Amino acid sequence: MDKNIKDRVEKLRKVINEYRYRYHVLDDPTLTDQVYDSLTDELRKLEKKYPELKTFDSPTQRIGGEPLEKFEKVKHRVRQWSLNDVFSFEELKDWESRNRRILEKKGIKSDFDYLVELKIDGLKIILDYDKGYLKQGATRGDGVIGEKVTENIKTIKSVPLKLEENINLTVTGECWLPNKELKRINKERRKKNLPEFVNSRNAGAGSMRQLDSKVAASRNLDSYIYSLEEVRSNNGKEFKTQKEELKFLIDLGFKINKEYQYFENLEKIKDFYQEWTDKKDHQPYGIDGLVIKINFKKYQRELGFTGKSPRFAIAWKFPPERVTTQIKEIKIQIGRTGALTPVAILKPISVAGSLVSRATLHNEDEIIKKDIKIGDTVVIHKAGDIIPEVVEVLKKMRTGKEQDFRMPKKCPICKGNVVREKIADSKKNVSSAHFCVSENCFAIERERLIHFVSKKGLNIDGMGKKIVEQLMNEGLISSVTDIFSLKFGDLKPLERFAEKSALNLIEAIKKSKQTTFEKLLFGLGIRHLGEEGISLLRKEMENNQTKLGSKYQKMGLEISQPTDLIKFFGQISKEDLFQISGFGSRIAESLNSWFKKRGNQIILQKLEKRGVRMEKVLSKSQKEVKKLEGKVFVLTGLLEKLTRDEAKNLIKKEGGKVSSTVSKNTDFVVVGKNSGSKYKKAVELNIRVLKEREFLDFIKE
Ligand code: NAD
Repeated sequence: MDKNIKDRVEKLRKVINEYRYRYHVLDDPTLTDQVYDSLTDELRKLEKKYPELKTFDSPTQRIGGEPLEKFEKVKHRVRQWSLNDVFSFEELKDWESRNRRILEKKGIKSDFDYLVELKIDGLKIILDYDKGYLKQGATRGDGVIGEKVTENIKTIKSVPLKLEENINLTVTGECWLPNKELKRINKERRKKNLPEFVNSRNAGAGSMRQLDSKVAASRNLDSYIYSLEEVRSNNGKEFKTQKEELKFLIDLGFKINKEYQYFENLEKIKDFYQEWTDKKDHQPYGIDGLVIKINFKKYQRELGFTGKSPRFAIAWKFPPERVTTQIKEIKIQIGRTGALTPVAILKPISVAGSLVSRATLHNEDEIIKKDIKIGDTVVIHKAGDIIPEVVEVLKKMRTGKEQDFRMPKKCPICKGNVVREKIADSKKNVSSAHFCVSENCFAIERERLIHFVSKKGLNIDGMGKKIVEQLMNEGLISSVTDIFSLKFGDLKPLERFAEKSALNLIEAIKKSKQTTFEKLLFGLGIRHLGEEGISLLRKEMENNQTKLGSKYQKMGLEISQPTDLIKFFGQISKEDLFQISGFGSRIAESLNSWFKKRGNQIILQKLEKRGVRMEKVLSKSQKEVKKLEGKVFVLTGLLEKLTRDEAKNLIKKEGGKVSSTVSKNTDFVVVGKNSGSKYKKAVELNIRVLKEREFLDFIKE
């Protein structure tokens, strides 16, 4: 047995017990339920794998917490249970197979159908009725002894004080606080400077476990009863199924949750689970999963209970948004700007429904702020639902063996120097990052190349991360300009390439040479300049009312060749760029200096030589001249100053088209001497007619 595993199990047990006590006994949790569940899940799995580590007092074997001294204690007539949790459909299937095997051993052939109820996140209550009258209400306590809270239970309006039948029985259910009530109560508590309740279960428990029943009465608690534990007066009540039992509870006058559903088999529950995962947050009460119960009572009886929970029922918890796991190591990733990003390599864990094995730690400051060490147990969530992030360290789980992390002084790839620089994000939060300053760092160049060929860059189809890395390793490319020298014969012999894929890639590279201003600038990966910045820059250039736009126009330049960019930015100052609304000094500075660097100028020259071209960037005045773009002209009659061909060329040069027939698609009819039917038709169709003189003025304008 690995000593580390034994230590981990002991640590988990100790820490979970502390959290359990705070939650069940003191009603004062310091962890969210999802994080708590995640720790217990790890412990349960380790105990399953190493049964020799299981102890009878492990939190996985215990129910709830001890009753509080201040209450009268009651011994339950029927032993009370908890539920085992599963977090995936696979685990649910295992549960079914286990049950099937147990019944098989008893010689019973099973054909399971299920009743699925919502798992209301409240406080379990146990109600005893004598001759139809509510005699006692209790909390679950440790499953054997609970707290007598009859007076408080009587304040719940939906709990019947008298049943429809004079019957002796025990039922169990959930006492819950409506979410609306939780908001109201927390608002009042804020005003009184009292600590707020963390969720409605916590508030429900806090209300029920008060000696003064006025407190419970003031909190509008509600109830859902879900189980008939025992019928003592023999009224001949025997139920074949869970469904019949629920029906009976309704007939007696209990309030049950109506969202339950019957399923013929496990497979069909999947959609129901998904449906409730989506709508769980929009209900009047808290729900933390589904409770799946074998419908047939005979099977329930035969399967019985483990030390802690029934075998015939299980809780399928909703995908947790926050889970715990351990940091195995911290690796360095190098970005295209040379920035060194520390990344936590995690023990794989499912968060918000998908498996995660790494989480960015952003930079050294973040590691120091969150006090993250290698070996730590951490809480993970997905920022913006996508990027896994370390929320906090569970310091209680530390053993002393955790190791500090330091950023390397040399680049782990090229062994070049690493410097620390201050950086600011888009919200102007300043932090610092480490950069590899080496000119020829393989990792930086690889990231640059990947960025250059990406969708928003030159969009070279079929040239993903792996291919870039392969071509670099083969020594075929080492900078973006090399891509355009690749030949079919270079690619074909390589692993992963067949004739067709090699041809396709060469074709895609060729196609990518005809690009746009936006794509080329993005592809070059100029620090701080993203898609949005490029779009702002272009708009400014195209608008001759702006300083930058009018400068561009005066230059008489129509950017289309890569080196045009050098000419343009060579005449534009940092200040000009800073004027662009939406541009900060960082972008202005970065753009300005990028085009001044000799190395970058060479890249643009090489790209140009190898045939990379952009669609022209026109300033507004140039664009206006082109306002004949898409306009349809018809020429008729004899022109005096121009020949027909000269007139046609003039129109075409300005982007217009010439047609021989007048139709409703015609924009202008130019009339010379002796024009006939076409002129008439133009008048009929209300099309603008220009005499030769007017046409020439119009073009000049
Ligand atoms: P449980 O919540 O996993 O499941 C059992 C309970 O489910 C029952 O007692 C019952 O009250 C309830 N339930 C709701 N609807 C039901 C239905 N239709 N049928 C049957 N039962 C239904 O187990 P538990 O032992 O009550 O306590 C564990 C819970 O307490 C977990 O949710 C855990 O996250 C939380 N907890 C949190 C902390 C913390 O620090 N945040 C500490 C300890 C426990």
